[in-house]
Amino acid sequence: MPPVAAGGPRVLLRRLREIMAEQTSAQTRLDKLVTVIASNMVAEVCSIYLRRAGKVLELFATEGLNPAAVHRTRMKEGEGLVGLVAETGEAVNLSDAPSDPHFSYRPETGEDPYHAFLGVPIVRGGQVFGVLTVQNRAARQYAEEEVEALQTVAMVLAEVVAQGGLFNIAELDEPELSPDRPRKFIGEGLSEGVAVGHLVLHEPRVKVERMIADNPQEELVRLEEAIGSLRDAVDHMLDSSELDLTGESREVIEAYRMFAHDQGWRQRMRDAVRTGLTAEASVERVQDEMRLRVSRFGDAILRERAHDLDDLARRLLRHLSGDGHDTVRDLPSDAILIARAMGPAELLDYGRDRLLAIVLEEGALTSHVAIVARAMGLPLVGSAEGITDASRAGDSIVVDGETGEVHLRPAGEIVAAFEAKRTLRAHRVAQFASIRDLPAVTKDGVHIRLLMNAGLLLDMPHLQESGADGIGLFRTELQFMIGETMPRLADQVAFYKEVLDAAGDKLVVFRTLDLGGDKVLPYARWEREENPALGWRAIRIALDRPALLRYQARALLTAAAGKVLRILLPMVSDVAEFNAARALIDREMERARTLARPQPRQVLVGAMLEVPALAFMLPQIMRSADFVSIGSNDLLSLAFAVDRTNPRVARRYDTLNPAALTLIRQIITSAAEGGGEVSLCGEMAGRPLDAMALIGLGLRTLSMSPGQIGPVKMMIRSLNYGEISVFVEKLCGRTDHSLRTRLAAFAAERGVVLR
Ligand code: PEP
Ligand code: MG
Repeated sequence: MPPVAAGGPRVLLRRLREIMAEQTSAQTRLDKLVTVIASNMVAEVCSIYLRRAGKVLELFATEGLNPAAVHRTRMKEGEGLVGLVAETGEAVNLSDAPSDPHFSYRPETGEDPYHAFLGVPIVRGGQVFGVLTVQNRAARQYAEEEVEALQTVAMVLAEVVAQGGLFNIAELDEPELSPDRPRKFIGEGLSEGVAVGHLVLHEPRVKVERMIADNPQEELVRLEEAIGSLRDAVDHMLDSSELDLTGESREVIEAYRMFAHDQGWRQRMRDAVRTGLTAEASVERVQDEMRLRVSRFGDAILRERAHDLDDLARRLLRHLSGDGHDTVRDLPSDAILIARAMGPAELLDYGRDRLLAIVLEEGALTSHVAIVARAMGLPLVGSAEGITDASRAGDSIVVDGETGEVHLRPAGEIVAAFEAKRTLRAHRVAQFASIRDLPAVTKDGVHIRLLMNAGLLLDMPHLQESGADGIGLFRTELQFMIGETMPRLADQVAFYKEVLDAAGDKLVVFRTLDLGGDKVLPYARWEREENPALGWRAIRIALDRPALLRYQARALLTAAAGKVLRILLPMVSDVAEFNAARALIDREMERARTLARPQPRQVLVGAMLEVPALAFMLPQIMRSADFVSIGSNDLLSLAFAVDRTNPRVARRYDTLNPAALTLIRQIITSAAEGGGEVSLCGEMAGRPLDAMALIGLGLRTLSMSPGQIGPVKMMIRSLNYGEISVFVEKLCGRTDHSLRTRLAAFAAERGVVLR
């Protein structure tokens, strides 16, 4: 039988509150805390370790261990049981600690006689900054309630430490050098546009003043009421949003609404209230636990959900404080919002009137907030790591949603440069618009077909705006990645139909699911792989799970009834693989015929050339495939053995390296011998200088992001094909790391416009 805690967690919490209110030194209060916790939990030892700079955990107070070890015993994160708790962010509960492989013996502490060990992390804002432990001589497992109670205490402790009640938090970390200095961040451009404005910190935490409940029953009622009013408010907000959300942005918002009504979330908060916390503290505790779990195990999709829940938790806290509507406070008229992460509904709340741009520490192209930002036409930069810590409300800031560049407190010249860039951009946009309906033809009469890449319905209006001749790459997997469940056949049909209708008589090339690698489905179980880029992805999945491809083909065939259907298979490594996939599509066509279903006028099936091995089989693949599209992102990353998602090496090769150009030239030449059509749809197609080289190599079709159509067309209309083809041919024989400078010099000499 475990000893019964003296007075239970609520009595303990009350005692803690009294101690914290005392006007004594921080050390004295910590010393008292450990004594009270030890006695309440009938533990012989209670210790508090707090994090110093460099992730070192230092013993700050102890009851039961040798007092001389205080401020002397230090563990690195991951070292010993205390380090393990800090590293994993989870409780460690052992009946015989010394026999555990993680146990690290520290003679100065005198902890030899203690067997039972319970350690819990001191967490705040999803970060661990200390560990609270209890130990007992007798070997025993601590009961579930004891673990809960210690976690609750740790949470209260975290709050007090962080609010400066015990220590100034700055004391625990290295002081930052001159916080006023200008800072530059290079993130990822997720929504285009340039903005110059003043910084607003998104939702600096809603401060939870009261942690310990006086009357738990009352807290439960408060929690329930707040959840109810939150749900109503969310429903109301989503229904009456001024933005006409359709397609993906609508789905994102619907998923968010579902979270607001989630019963599991509600139950976890109710449980936390029962341990003696106030409703507010319970919301925080559940949120902290969730954030920790996500940061440890989370893939991109889980993280996305976590942002939705963070958004909801902050809203719930506002409802608890009786202020359910106050997101848009006094925003300056040139507000640029900074946040670690943000939910889609929060962005909607701000509206687009006063907001100029958003910068996030997290966020990716397919993140919910990015989808909504693009729908709102707001520039957004993601992956700006460390920017929230460096930010202060009211600071000046400039943002480029295209290059991902962000300057905090920039010097006057930088602001001027960005102002100029913004004006220039507006000017360029006007210029591109003026050539939108002109053909992409070189000065000596060579026509180039410019297509755009897309993946969401949101992209479809760009087809008209950009003047693209069609969609050269429609990444169908995005639709599968943003939903909560696998789209049903009927949903897929409706979606593809909407895309085809929006495209009118312009062509659309649908790429079948390119899953795997970094693209995983939220609802599918996925085994982690050592080398996802070389792993189970794209066509490999399609062949192992033929139903997936057959359903998709069925949906595409139905949606394209009466039209030309173009299907593109990703990551084809050899001809047999392509033939096997094509046979699956043929079976679906056969099925449609047998059932007398309406069918496309013509079905063309192409192969993506992304695996270098296929480059050696062009004449053969050309006999099986109706067309080939070079996926230069993967092709070159595989050819140069560089992981395109690893920033350490991603920039190690240049797409304008002579080997890259020689490889592409060879592909074009052998495709032409086979009499086939080849195009290119990787990122390089949209960079005017790269596109110039590709045209010189003989490509006639390029597919790129819609924003690049204008700049590339402008380049083409100022280019002489005869000259560039001779020049590029010569360049292929060189040994430079990159031919960029030489190509740029060529362009400058011949007056080729590069913007
Ligand atoms: C490519 O690899 O070049 C490509 C267009 O496909 P994705 O970027 O979607 O992998
Ligand atoms: Mg690819």
